[in-house]
Amino acid sequence: MEILQAYCVELDDTVDIYEAQSAYFDNPPSSRKRFTFRCSDEECRRLKNPLVSGVNYHRLAEETEKYRQPHFRAPKANAHLETCIWSEEKTGLSLAEPTTDESQQRVARAKKTNVVDIFRPAESDTLRGSPEQRKSGTNILTPVPTAADQATQKERNRISDGYSSTSRLERFVDCWLQFNADQLKVQQVAISGKTLSYRQAVTNPAWITEEQNGHRILYGAARISLWPPAKPTRLYLNFLDDCDQLPEHLGNQSLDIELPLARINQHRGGAVMLHKLTQAQQPDYYLKVYCWGMIKAKDKRPGYRIEIASLNNLVLKPVAKKTSTTKPTLTDSP
Ligand SMILES: [Zn+2]
Repeated sequence: MEILQAYCVELDDTVDIYEAQSAYFDNPPSSRKRFTFRCSDEECRRLKNPLVSGVNYHRLAEETEKYRQPHFRAPKANAHLETCIWSEEKTGLSLAEPTTDESQQRVARAKKTNVVDIFRPAESDTLRGSPEQRKSGTNILTPVPTAADQATQKERNRISDGYSSTSRLERFVDCWLQFNADQLKVQQVAISGKTLSYRQAVTNPAWITEEQNGHRILYGAARISLWPPAKPTRLYLNFLDDCDQLPEHLGNQSLDIELPLARINQHRGGAVMLHKLTQAQQPDYYLKVYCWGMIKAKDKRPGYRIEIASLNNLVLKPVAKKTSTTKPTLTDSP
């Protein structure tokens, strides 16, 4: 079992790796410092205080291999209390890093991975703490209490029950990314009461049918544009692929996402999203979007738009171009 949560000393809070990433990028570049993490289990922390390493949460680019994605790991010689949920005795798997060659390490890491088998799409954004709360710098993750936070607490409880369940799409996507084509057919995930293979669960705009609309995670490369150009207030993500299986709407099958920048700014994790957009606009990068939502015909305008009920259902991945000829460019405007 991999470590899914850790106590962050600087934030004085228990976080998952995505919350750690979000808090890290909330700080201005000049004051960004790597965090110190300890075990999330209070009893374990009091009696043993084992160190937990946060890996790659300070980076923005997509990595397909699990061990390069943001994650926590347990460094050697940091034993956990036997009753701790992250204790290796309890999980039956060694949490220590093997000292063998890199390929063997990757296999070992993959085996320890919790495969997400329940994705519960979030229904609203997770608001940041109020400006007053954030002033001290230590309460960045203190949220305004919302139903979503209660859901997060429930999720934590379920994790401690051994459930591999998440309402954070990014966690599912990072899990999905580590599998090859054959493995994607075998792994299963339940979404809104329906069980799908990993392969079925994630599809491209060009393949999604009317029947599947609202029941699949969509992914694809997208162009980024901000509007109006002089003083942007809205972000548009235009998928490069059209909804080929859907009827033309006013002569068009294009698909986009429209988001007010103010909404992103209010969302916990919004800062890291904006950094990812900036990274994806670098010459050697493009943006891959993963999202959960309903595709709807645009009002009085051609084409389709995906409604994103929660920004937790939207994942932005800046991806390094392998060669300049095989990947789409982002230089065109929509
Ligand atoms: Zn522990």
